[in-house]
Amino acid sequence: MTLLKEEKVFKDPVHKYIYVQDETIWDLINTKEFQRLRRIRQLGTCFLTFHGAEHSRFSHSLGVYEVTRKIISQFERNQYEDWPKEERLLCLCAALLHDVGHGPFSHSIERTFGTHHEEWSCRIVLGDTEVNEVLKRVSPTFPQQVAGVIAKTYRQEIVVSLVSSQLDADRMDYLLRDAYFTGVNYGTFDLERILRVLRPYKGHIVVKESGMHAVEDYLMSRYQMYWQVYFHPVTRSAEIILNKIFQRAKQLYEEGYRFQFMVRPLLCLFQGALTLQDYILLDEALMQTVLMQWTLEDDGVLADLSRRFLERDLFKYVTMDRVDTGLMEQLRTNMQEHGIDPAFYLEIDFPSDMSYDVYRPGENDEKLPILLLDQRDVLTEISRKSEIVRSISGIQLGKYHLYYPAELAERHTDLIPRELHKLFDPE
Ligand code: ZN
Repeated sequence: MTLLKEEKVFKDPVHKYIYVQDETIWDLINTKEFQRLRRIRQLGTCFLTFHGAEHSRFSHSLGVYEVTRKIISQFERNQYEDWPKEERLLCLCAALLHDVGHGPFSHSIERTFGTHHEEWSCRIVLGDTEVNEVLKRVSPTFPQQVAGVIAKTYRQEIVVSLVSSQLDADRMDYLLRDAYFTGVNYGTFDLERILRVLRPYKGHIVVKESGMHAVEDYLMSRYQMYWQVYFHPVTRSAEIILNKIFQRAKQLYEEGYRFQFMVRPLLCLFQGALTLQDYILLDEALMQTVLMQWTLEDDGVLADLSRRFLERDLFKYVTMDRVDTGLMEQLRTNMQEHGIDPAFYLEIDFPSDMSYDVYRPGENDEKLPILLLDQRDVLTEISRKSEIVRSISGIQLGKYHLYYPAELAERHTDLIPRELHKLFDPE
């Protein structure tokens, strides 16, 4: 591995500074595929709820690289024999590139078109790209190794678990970064402390038992961030509208509708023939332009939904403990009678999360558990020792949210089934 003549330093609000010593890392950062991440927001539609959440996947990717670099240098300083030193550059490259395949408003596009960002990350690493060019300079098989770590198929579990596990560099960076940029108070935890108590042990990354409380704090902050930020109903509402926009556009395309405005990468996406070169052109700047142009389309639904997204005229929501399918059917029929297509103006959302997944052999083998190492070199899965972790383990279910356009509320006497009136108008 070649070191730069002079170390490069990025100023970063979360880690203060990010240090680059390897030529390969510096070259990867300067590829066009990596620079594209500056034009993709880390949190998709979240900026419509928390206006500070404008940070990009570029800053998060650098952050994951920096956390990984810090973990490895701690291992090296302590001269842990269980750390495979030769894997350092591979870990750093995989950390830097783990999200390189994210597209604009990833989740909405993935849901409508069945694409997957992890798959695109691997395609960018392996395909005809500047990233691939840089990686090949390390060795001809190096791109395959990086893709293997991103796809979690690489033979060394310890390398994979640094980048993706239940206590990994990815989560450690995004929790702190998202908390910082949204401005919320929960979500923070003592990163320095966690970095100090990690160590390699017999092919795993484990936590020294003395660090249990720091890890509890990290898991709690993840729990809080999911409920307060990631599942925020207003963010979800914006996401639902985006989903509907893509679904409508896809439907129109399939019906042979003539769009007044269309861009090549989207057309290829509709045709299911998106090439790598086209995918790289898809970013949020382009999507913003598309949405602005679509407000002028002849199709009323597409124009209205696009306007709603841009002007933040989002769907309102009501919270329900359960979904009565009969009543929902009634609501749909009523909407149809008023000329409103429920496929694009009604949605029931049910967020759920797993703060920590207790290891169950044979069931969730891919979810690496957090292991505590005590003074006598005995490993114990964290939920066996921590009451707090036990209490937030397993699936946490939210409530049902019913999303609908606000104008409906004004006319709800004939639109909303009588049994639901209380829900829409609690007075
Ligand atoms: Zn990430």
